[in-house]
Amino acid sequence: MRASQFHISTLKEAPADAEVVSHQLMMRAGMIKKLGAGIYTYMPMGLRVIRKVERIVREEMERAGAIELTMPIVQPAELWQETGRFGKMGPELLRIRDRHERDFVIQPTSEEVVTDIARQDLRSYKQLPKNFYQIQTKFRDERRPRFGLMRGREFIMKDAYSFDRDAEGAQRSYQIMAQAYRRIFDRFGLRYRAVAADSGAIGGDLSEEFQVIAATGEDAIVYCPTSDYAANLEKAEALPPQGPRPAPTQALSKVPTPGRSTCAQVAELLGVPLARTVKSIVLATDEINERDEVVATRIWLLLLRGDHDMNEVKVGKLPGLALGFRFATEAEIVEHFGCRPGYLGPVGTRKPVMVVADREVAVMADWICGANEVDHHLTGVNWGRDLPEPDLVADIRNVVAGDPSPDGQGVLAIERGIEVGHVFYLGTKYSRAMNATFLDEDGKPKPFEMGCYGIGITRLPAAAIEQNHDERGIIWPDAIAPFTVVLCPIGMERSPSVREAAERLYETLRAHGVDVILDDRGERPGVMFADWELIGVPHRVTLGERGLKDGVVEYQHRRDNAATPVPLTDIVEWLR
Ligand code: ATP
Ligand code: MG
Ligand code: MG
Ligand code: MG
Repeated sequence: MRASQFHISTLKEAPADAEVVSHQLMMRAGMIKKLGAGIYTYMPMGLRVIRKVERIVREEMERAGAIELTMPIVQPAELWQETGRFGKMGPELLRIRDRHERDFVIQPTSEEVVTDIARQDLRSYKQLPKNFYQIQTKFRDERRPRFGLMRGREFIMKDAYSFDRDAEGAQRSYQIMAQAYRRIFDRFGLRYRAVAADSGAIGGDLSEEFQVIAATGEDAIVYCPTSDYAANLEKAEALPPQGPRPAPTQALSKVPTPGRSTCAQVAELLGVPLARTVKSIVLATDEINERDEVVATRIWLLLLRGDHDMNEVKVGKLPGLALGFRFATEAEIVEHFGCRPGYLGPVGTRKPVMVVADREVAVMADWICGANEVDHHLTGVNWGRDLPEPDLVADIRNVVAGDPSPDGQGVLAIERGIEVGHVFYLGTKYSRAMNATFLDEDGKPKPFEMGCYGIGITRLPAAAIEQNHDERGIIWPDAIAPFTVVLCPIGMERSPSVREAAERLYETLRAHGVDVILDDRGERPGVMFADWELIGVPHRVTLGERGLKDGVVEYQHRRDNAATPVPLTDIVEWLR
């Protein structure tokens, strides 16, 4: 590719709504363009990255025996009514109506459609197992789309669905996918962890998330540095209490005021006067789920046990509340709930329990507590004077860094991650609901045993940037860089020797299958370097008249602080 023929459009400043570094850098590097909330155009530079992600995913899917198809983005509501999801799914499911007043959905995922295909096409056990996948646009009307491609509303997902004869077969298919995912994420060149996730009603351990490690991640993951144990926080929490806990040493990634503090100190921090009675607890989250309700109920029970006249636990949704990066402002809470906020949550949690405290509560020990300010947290908070019975506290707390690992192989640590993939054993949930059966060897119809497997194709580049950047810009891993090598000729316009060397090197690299871009725009070196450092091309070769006289060019990796002279005759070998 020649830069003069490509579309390069870099910006000095990121737009104000870009809160995280990946969003800022993707905007500044001209990789994406915003069209609406959570809706982006993949610009040529960004699309190259996405295509590389897709290629790796395709190769590994095919290697694992999955077969590609493409299912419609617009899907008739009837199918979604068969499983009940048309009614049950919340506003994340975008429902639309055509001119005949028929209902449709824009696919957020495709279990219904693929199960419909299976019940038509897979009639005999002899056709099993099968694994169908697609790389296709999804739409989820996320409560708060944010962080660019990280949590878009329209995004690209790879979704695969396996069909098996029986549970053992399905578990084998699951393992094959879980292995393929490891190969895929290894190839991306990112630091990631596969963590056990909740498999919902099905039970068992057959659900794993693939989390790219990043301080800005929305998920918390619990792992044991000295063993293979790793789970997401919800799953880790489900483990039996671990007995007496050591004092928490670290909870969230940035805790400016570690150590113990009292309710009064917290109140001071929050600027909220400590009042007399607890009227209600409001649990404010982005998305209300069972876990939050359980936590709320437990807190309520604790408070009742403590003879407080608190008699209400509200599970409240607060529009626009984003946890982890931006907490609701006090004004928003006052407006929405009619009271002033403070919040508490078990150590390590990222979903704070919002406590509207009109009285000092005598039950919360060693919790993490936060003001409505980014990264402003206290650990080891004792909320109130009298501490509760220890087992009750243990029961409502999450896993704490320093807890013994359930495998007995060390102690637990907590870090943040970005969910880039998810593998899930579904059992017969969808096949039963949709009466999708095949004829087994004994001639009897049986429902398919299913699994589903997703990868956030467009979230992945954002996750890669969160993990790989510096003050100058993005640092792409080779596997998904928009270009692997950039050639920067200095003074190409004026110097025939530079032009000739650059053109020749460009052609040679192309002939060797290197994904190279020649910066023939005629920009000054400073502009060229700044652009490519921002865009994050990992390998740069600079050609100048002076060096070429000695037969030398300069090589610099994006992570290097200085260039290395390399003989022109060696540079192709050097880059390969
Ligand atoms: P999250 O917990 O981040 O909301 P999810 O668990 O709802 O994700 P899945 O249903 O497991 O997502 O979908 C599979 C994959 O699709 C996820 O692992 C993630 O990488 C990606 N994904 C999900 N939602 C989005 C989104 N809004 N924007 C970009 N990618 C997404
Ligand atoms: Mg989601
Ligand atoms: Mg998730
Ligand atoms: Mg998931």
